[in-house]
Amino acid sequence: MRILTAGLLTETNTFSPIPAGWPAFGRTPIQRGAQSPFASTWEFAALVDWRERAERDGHTVVESLAAVAEPAGRVVRSVYESLRDEILRDVTNALPLDVILLYLHGAMAAEGYDDCDGDILCRCRELVGPDVIVGAEVDLHGNLSEEMVAAASVIVAYKEYPHTDMVERGADLYRLCVGAVSGNIKPVMAMRDCRMVGIWPTTNPAMRALVDEAYENERDGILSVSLMHGFPWADVPGCGAKALAISDGSQKAAEKTARRFAQRFWEIRDAAHIESVAMDEGVELALTAADGPIVLADVSDNAGGGAPGDATFLLRGLLGRGATNVVAGTYYDPIAVELCAEAGPGATLDLRIGGKLGPASGAPLDLRVTVRSIVEDHSQTAMDRSAPVALGRSAWVSVDGIDLALASIRSQVFSPDAFTGLGIPLENARLIVLKSTHHFWAGFSAIAKHAIYVSPPGALQLDFKNIAYRKRDPNYWPRVNVAP
Ligand SMILES: [Zn+2]
Repeated sequence: MRILTAGLLTETNTFSPIPAGWPAFGRTPIQRGAQSPFASTWEFAALVDWRERAERDGHTVVESLAAVAEPAGRVVRSVYESLRDEILRDVTNALPLDVILLYLHGAMAAEGYDDCDGDILCRCRELVGPDVIVGAEVDLHGNLSEEMVAAASVIVAYKEYPHTDMVERGADLYRLCVGAVSGNIKPVMAMRDCRMVGIWPTTNPAMRALVDEAYENERDGILSVSLMHGFPWADVPGCGAKALAISDGSQKAAEKTARRFAQRFWEIRDAAHIESVAMDEGVELALTAADGPIVLADVSDNAGGGAPGDATFLLRGLLGRGATNVVAGTYYDPIAVELCAEAGPGATLDLRIGGKLGPASGAPLDLRVTVRSIVEDHSQTAMDRSAPVALGRSAWVSVDGIDLALASIRSQVFSPDAFTGLGIPLENARLIVLKSTHHFWAGFSAIAKHAIYVSPPGALQLDFKNIAYRKRDPNYWPRVNVAP
């Protein structure tokens, strides 16, 4: 069997001011199988697993490129087209193929393209014709489109949020695609729009039960069930939650299952939704909590959702309250890190922190800080523990009982070592303030009593009724409350 693998992914926040160009795709070096075997970076773990499985099974593997960018605004058009066309060239050169395995996100948009994933899948299908199995693994935060479902043979999404099952779902996709070529199964897909926009952590009991139900239903002719949560901060027509089912040979069975899971997802939409409070209320709750540490998640400035990562609204609020025993980070501020490195550990200096990337960042904070440490090539553990996530040269500075982690690479906080790796102790912290929506919980649940989600001004507003969509139609929950 001849299998081609490729990865091209980012999550596009169309409201973000940060363009995704070559530097964004170069931060994790673009890997090209023909020249260099994929290194095991956490983003590409599923691709590495596909290669290993295929080699074990005696298949021929052709590796096209693997490219990933930290979520940001729309991908620069020429960059997207160049990366896409390289994959398409590799497909053409590798023919004849039996299987194409694509590692995508599902919510990538570029200038001129609202649905990059649909575009890639359609063009691959055009090149290989109707008989080749084209499979895609996607993030459950992908905005699944009809074009994607029509062009692909098999689509499998992560089931877990935090995403701890990227490799496992990749293995599901591999099994289904190889099984389809062998003639053991005949995957048939059906998608159902849930007409909902929101955030649903699978650590929530109601959502957990639904995900378990999805696993349990993958039998008796149902090959796969994916609950696509969608990515809310994407003004594209396909934005929102969908249910996707794959049956073995029966369109009717796939449709029935997709309809049932869309209905089940709809039923728990409110109970399973992420709970957030206003910033001031969240600060008050966190500071008056009887025991700690409490995690205060700055959802609005989650770089993992395309936000700048240097917003100061929450820190300003904490400083104003005179809060102490607080650890906060990571602030994306390479200029501040450079100044700290110049001054050196032990130095006290006037430092301008954050507020640099645009209105979503708020105003910069001018603080007199003490530099506690500088770490070159700092990193943190990924949520699935597969490999480190780079934070670049980073600094620990302290100011008035608050310890801050400043980084040179824009990233959400996944794990406690984002702080402890700089030497910042967490044992005595009353409050851990971090920039992330929910992925952090995989790493922090062991040390934090609980998490409070706040949504200060910023790029990822949790007020889903009022997201300024122009392309996504307004017929969605929580704007309207009509079952799909
Ligand atoms: Zn995601």
